[in-house]
Amino acid sequence: MARAGLPVMGAAASAAPALPTVAPAPGDRKLEIPVTGMHCAACVGRVQGALEEAPGVKSAVVNLMTGSATVAFDPAKVSPDALVERIRSTGYGAELAGANASAAEDQERQDAARRDEYLEYRTKGTVSLTLGAILMFLPMSLATAWVQLAVTTAVILWAGRHFYTRAWTGFRHHSADMNTLIAVGTGAAYSFSATATVAPRVFNAAGVMPGLYFEAVVIIIALILVGNALEARAKGQTAGALRRLINLQPASARVTRSEVEIDIPVGHVVRGDMVLVRPGERVPVDGEIVSGASAVDESMLTGEPMPVLKQAGDRVVGGTINGTGAFRYRATTVGVDSVLARIVRMMKEAQGTRAPMQRLADRVSGVFVPVVLSIAIVTFVAWYLLVADGGLVRAIVPAVAVLIIACPCAMGLAVPAAVMVATGRGAELGVLIKGGEALERAGSLTTIVLDKTGTVSEGKPAVTDLRWHGQSGTDEATMLRFAGTLEASSEHPIASAIAAYVKKRGIPVSVASSFEAVSGRGAIGVVEGRAVSVGNAALMGEWGIDPSPLAAEALVLASDGKTVVFVGVDGRLAGLLAISDPIRATSAEAVMRLKALGLEVVLLTGDQRVAADAIARAAHIDRVVAEVLPEQKRDEIARLQRAGGVVAMVGDGINDAPALAQADVGIAMGAGTDIAIEAAAITLMRSDLRSAAHAIELSRATMRTMRQNLFWALAYNSLGIPIAAGVLYPSLGLLLSPVLASAAMAMSSVSVLTNSLRLRRFRPV
Ligand code: ADP
Ligand code: MG
Repeated sequence: MARAGLPVMGAAASAAPALPTVAPAPGDRKLEIPVTGMHCAACVGRVQGALEEAPGVKSAVVNLMTGSATVAFDPAKVSPDALVERIRSTGYGAELAGANASAAEDQERQDAARRDEYLEYRTKGTVSLTLGAILMFLPMSLATAWVQLAVTTAVILWAGRHFYTRAWTGFRHHSADMNTLIAVGTGAAYSFSATATVAPRVFNAAGVMPGLYFEAVVIIIALILVGNALEARAKGQTAGALRRLINLQPASARVTRSEVEIDIPVGHVVRGDMVLVRPGERVPVDGEIVSGASAVDESMLTGEPMPVLKQAGDRVVGGTINGTGAFRYRATTVGVDSVLARIVRMMKEAQGTRAPMQRLADRVSGVFVPVVLSIAIVTFVAWYLLVADGGLVRAIVPAVAVLIIACPCAMGLAVPAAVMVATGRGAELGVLIKGGEALERAGSLTTIVLDKTGTVSEGKPAVTDLRWHGQSGTDEATMLRFAGTLEASSEHPIASAIAAYVKKRGIPVSVASSFEAVSGRGAIGVVEGRAVSVGNAALMGEWGIDPSPLAAEALVLASDGKTVVFVGVDGRLAGLLAISDPIRATSAEAVMRLKALGLEVVLLTGDQRVAADAIARAAHIDRVVAEVLPEQKRDEIARLQRAGGVVAMVGDGINDAPALAQADVGIAMGAGTDIAIEAAAITLMRSDLRSAAHAIELSRATMRTMRQNLFWALAYNSLGIPIAAGVLYPSLGLLLSPVLASAAMAMSSVSVLTNSLRLRRFRPV
């Protein structure tokens, strides 16, 4: 033996690599606070600004879509209650969520709040609209002017009050948002009309009353409220997928306690409980089947339409639906650790994140209100000075129209609405997307790298061939006993295949007195006092073993796509084993789809070149990077990135984590392993490479929706403002009435939401 002193058992078993983390720094706390009353990007900026200024706050992300603020803070410097107070001081509503509230209770409360909001806006909106219509048809006279004044005042105080109070708190804090624009706009029209009614001489020496705008004030307020009502309803619809997920868990479970079967609330099920599931019932919590068998419909979690056969030893997941069989299983994870709870949590986090595209909207809306106020003033002055027959009366209309149409509501919703709907739709398809950034990157990929084992192939390798070689002086059974004993200590799929094969041959194994996993090459150790090594040619070479006597046969096996590992005993060749890991039935189709999406597909593996080429051929993959060590996989990704590619890496688990993290988009396949979920930007619930294509298609569709939304939101404002200001008046005589402006504004948010909701019907091609 070339080397002396093998390390002791387990000492070097390949450790899981460090994973990127999104958790706050130690000592910091993260809290989500529901915020009510926000309707535009500027509102978001105001709440976020207030939170960021608070001492002890590390970061604050406010989301208009979910109506929530996610704050990372140092609990030693600021309390959650103080944070809530901060938000309230900006004029918006905030309340701490119950610390122990379940996802279902949380969602319930949010839905209830949204429903109340919807009903309130709808009532106020429709009543105001009716009053506005009546005012419009009142004949003009001094008496009716007083009636109009009274009705308008009532509408302002009852239906529109929050616009003014919020504008006022904003003013006191030197900040402005959509409420400022509405309050200033309607306030100006109202003050003008009220003054004209009470003291007409101010405007006209003869005391003739000028035109009044009471009905405009009422209708503007009414339309904005109707718009907000529609917005609240559409926002509720965007959470549909999340709500369905949350409601998957049944309320009760039938468990055996002290040898009797009883129905208990699902929250009372503990780890180790024996749970009975009858035909057609929902599986209450995660666990492992002990007896019985059935086909289980997992489509709600994985997107896989075909029911999956489950029997003793198989895992079942809470929320899935049992078919016609019945089974008993042991609960393994319950409560917040369950698969369903983790998915829901991940989705909520995803929906609270900020997509990079949002930055444009944030930047615009930060300066929006002051800019619009300035434009309104310029408009007013220009009309007052330039339009000969005008005077105050002619100048006030376009200025008010500018203020009303300028609200950046749609811009604040453009990106998060699309993220919300897309992540929900993704979950329904069995594709969990970490957030807006992941969506955006996945939408602009150029290259997709596929790990071979467990990704393109099934990841369930089995020994298919055996060649014995007498060099080491061990017979075939002894060689298998040594190999089986050594590999029993390894977690590598190849090792499991060898151990299973040896067991199947009925050869009893012993215990290795030392073991070391040699990453990407094989395993070495001491069995029954003999130095045993199992691994590829490189490993043999390191230990001074010459595999060439079997090289020709190894090549033939490898050209069939089989992985060949040699067995060495005491520095001499004992034989080889060929392991086959069949490619998944869907892999070739998935690769075709990925190519059709214009992506370059690369196979990446630690396996031999010949075997990798064979697999690549079968899966229609043109480019192969083989014989890379696990730690080099990350470098391969980096190399593709340096060459200008936006690279996704699809992998299945632990030894892929560094490469998943290095890639622009890490896609973890076949879920279940927590590590993959943490390291990846996208997690595929189903072990089917086609899901990766679905994820990319969905991301592209989402990008398109975001762009459309932003385009409309920007176009709406950049066309609406100048038209409202009257730039078309000199040439076309076209002027936008403030009432039309408010209708357009109400529709702008609704149209962005409706456009985003189309993603609910996204279907992979
Ligand atoms: P993959 O890229 O397919 O996941 P790995 O990097 O894990 O492959 O392993 C690369 C090669 O190292 C395998 O093809 C095999 O030849 C060898 N190998 C790794 N671990 C073992 C083991 N426990 N037993 C035998 N051979 C191994
Ligand atoms: Mg692997």
